[in-house]
This record gives sequence, C-alpha cells and structure tokens, in this order.
Amino acid sequence: MNASNVIARRAAAALRDPRWPAVVARDPAADGEFFYAVRTTGVYCRPSCGARTPRPENVEFHRSAAAAEQAGFRACRRCRPDLPPLVERQAAVVAELCRLIEQAEAPPTLHQLAGQAGLSAHHLHRLFKAHTGLTPKAYAVARRAERLRAGLTAEKSVTEAVFAAGYNASGRFYAEAAGILGMTASRYRAGGAAAEIRFAIGQCSLGAILVAASERGLCAILLGDDPELLLRDLQDRFAKARLIGGDAGFERWVAEVVGFVEAPGIGLTLPLDIRGTAFQQRVWQALREIPAGQTASYSEIARRIGQPQAVRAVAGACAANALAVAIPCHRVVRTDGSLSGYRWGVARKRALLEREGGA
Ligand SMILES: [Zn+2]
Repeated sequence: MNASNVIARRAAAALRDPRWPAVVARDPAADGEFFYAVRTTGVYCRPSCGARTPRPENVEFHRSAAAAEQAGFRACRRCRPDLPPLVERQAAVVAELCRLIEQAEAPPTLHQLAGQAGLSAHHLHRLFKAHTGLTPKAYAVARRAERLRAGLTAEKSVTEAVFAAGYNASGRFYAEAAGILGMTASRYRAGGAAAEIRFAIGQCSLGAILVAASERGLCAILLGDDPELLLRDLQDRFAKARLIGGDAGFERWVAEVVGFVEAPGIGLTLPLDIRGTAFQQRVWQALREIPAGQTASYSEIARRIGQPQAVRAVAGACAANALAVAIPCHRVVRTDGSLSGYRWGVARKRALLEREGGA
C-alpha cells in the first residue's frame, strides 16, 4: 500500500468518525468526552480548542489526556487539555471568592476580590455573575440575608440576629427585611423556618411520591424510587421544621397532588410555599410560565429573567427545585431539544414530557 493510499484511508476514517464534527465545530459540549491529537505537530487538544482545525488525515482520537500523552503527544499550550477544563478552573476561583465573601466581616470590594483572584475587576465581575447569576455585591447581600434567616430562628432576639448577620444599622435592615424575608422579621422568627410541616408518602405512576406542606402551602413534592430517601431529603431541606406524618386531614392534598402529577395539564389549585433565594424564585416563576406541552432551554430561561449570561445558575436553580411538576423544571431541555438532567431522574422527565405532549 503506498503513502497516498494511507493518507486517503486515514482521512476517510476521521471524516466518518462521529467525533470529527465536534472538532470542526469546536464544540465545548464535547470537552471531556475525548481529546484529539495531531500527528504533524505532536500536540493534543480539547475539542473546543481555538487552534486551526487540523487536516483529517493527521488526526487521531484519545479517550483521555493520559492516553494521548502515552501515545507520545504533548499538551496544547492554548487549550491546556492536561488541566481541568477552563470552566471548572473558573468555577473554583469563583467558589473561593464566595467563601471569602462569606467569611469577611464587611463585604470585600470588587477590587479586593479581583486582586485576590489575579483578574481585572471587569473580568472578575463578569465571571462571578456568569457562575452565580449574581454580582459579588448581590451575592454578599444574599448571604447576609441567609445568615439572618438562620439567626432569626436561633438567636435570642430579632435585634441580636440583625447584628449577628452583619447589619450595622437596624434601620437599614428593616428597610430591606420585607424584601429579603417576604414578611417582617418578627413574624418570620415566630413562624417561618421552625414551622410544622405535614407530609405523606404515596405511590404514583412515576414511583414513590412525597408531598409536604407548611401552613402556607405545598413546600415539597419529591419523586423517587425509595420512600426512605425521599423522607431523608425532606429532613435535609427543612432541617429546622417539625415534620408530622400521617395526618388524616392531609390525605385530600396528597390525592390532589398525585392527580396533578398524573395529568399536569389539569393544573394545581393548592397554594405553594416556595422557598429559595431571590434569584431562584425568579427562575422558578419563569418555569411556571412555560405551558404544559411546551419546553424551553436553559438559555431561554436565562434570557427571560433578564440575565442571559446566567445559564449555569439557571440550571442550578432547576436542580434545587423542591416542588416537582408544580414548578415544572422538567420542561427545561437543552438548546438542541435533548433532555439533559433531571433532579428526579431522566426517565421521569421523559415520562412527564410524553404525558404532556399527548395531553
Ligand atoms: Zn489546543
């Protein structure tokens, strides 16, 4: 077999390979799935690398960076396939800054944070918002509000909790409190977090279902295979609440929720007690505006809430949803229409979407 035959065969093999289109498209979704190496340069890359697309006859594919190195290739200096993906490295930087904000007495300034991360203030601001959905300042405000919520159930008085959460002027706190807690601080302390939660576990066509409600409304609809794990999940989510099971008066609610899960198109008339950060609440509200039988992508939801960069944070809010089906996170799919993940299992997501499509 002569050399031009070898080249033609190699090119044909690469062009047939399902990984080749991802190389041509520099598809970041393929990063981590495989690496490609270029025989002429001796370098290997991630699929998303910005380097010039190699000729197909020069390409070989590897499952891992280690496999590419074993085959004698060295890591590209541009896409650094030997390091964790850029988005993970950035996430680690942002996570570190989040811890810094949480531990600081007074919220650090943008310039202090940028100095810590070794980035420009502008770049840091953009990066932080892309990963958390919030600016560093809004994040500091949100964490302080969380400390306050926790403090109001643990501290002796509202005033003490206000100071423990880092508010130095309680006048300012009271101005902010209604927005943060959705009610006044005293009422929150009296009822909110330590309230009673009634729950029941039943079966529906999707498996085990746990329905829970506070005095304000449904606060959890959890789906799964194992009723015990559902109960543990409820305990984790409402660690401060008194959980009360087997209340006969609650059966009617469970029946309505099960009926709703079987046929989401009929709607749910029960009140919801939706608990989450301000950002999560905006995402969940946007999800509730997707009609049964329709879907939206994570980036569409990010656009609808006015934060097109916050796609990852939107996905995070979907994963944190405690009210399956009632907050229809199952109607969020990838941009290409594929299902992606679901807090309660992709099989359940598919079943729900099929059900709604047929409704
Ligand atoms: Zn590269």
